[in-house]
Amino acid sequence: MRNRKVPDLILERVWQINETVLSQLNIKALILDVDNTLSVHGAPIPAGEVVPWMQKMNEIKVPLIILSNNTQKRVQPFAKRLNLEFVHFAIKPLPGGFKRAARLLKLPPEQIGVVGDQIFTDILGGNLAGMKTILVMPLGESGTRFIKFKRYFEKKYINLYYKNKRDE
Ligand SMILES: [Mg+2]
Repeated sequence: MRNRKVPDLILERVWQINETVLSQLNIKALILDVDNTLSVHGAPIPAGEVVPWMQKMNEIKVPLIILSNNTQKRVQPFAKRLNLEFVHFAIKPLPGGFKRAARLLKLPPEQIGVVGDQIFTDILGGNLAGMKTILVMPLGESGTRFIKFKRYFEKKYINLYYKNKRDE
C-alpha cells in the first residue's frame, strides 16, 4: 500500500502549480497551507508570485481555500487580504479540518489538492483525507525549532518520493 507520508508531487513553490499539474492529478480545487507555503512563517504579506498566481487560478476557475493549524489571529487577516475562505486551528493531520474545507469547496476529496510544506501535517493529513497532495519547499528559514526538528524526519519521505519516481 502507498505510504501516506509520500506526496503525489513535489514542487519548489506553490506558484509552479499550473493547468498541466492540475489536469495530470485531476485536481479541481486547492487547499492551501499558510506558513512557509504562501508566506514566510508569521509574515502578513504573501510571498513572491503568490498574488499573480492566485489571479491565474481565479481565471481558470480553480477555487482556493486556506487550511492552517495557526490561530484565527494569524490566519483571518491573511485570508482576508487574499479574499479567501479559511479554516484556522485545523489540527492537521487530523481529518476534521480537511473535511470542513471539502464541504466549503463542495467537491469530493479525490478532486481536491492539498498544498503545504510539511509532510507530517499537510501531506499526511491530505492523503488520509483521500485528497491529492503537493509538497512545496518551505519559504524562508524563520521556522520554529520544532519545525526544524521535524524536517530531519521528513527527508526520508522526500527521498522515497524520488525513488518511486525513478521506479515508475
Ligand atoms: Mg506550513
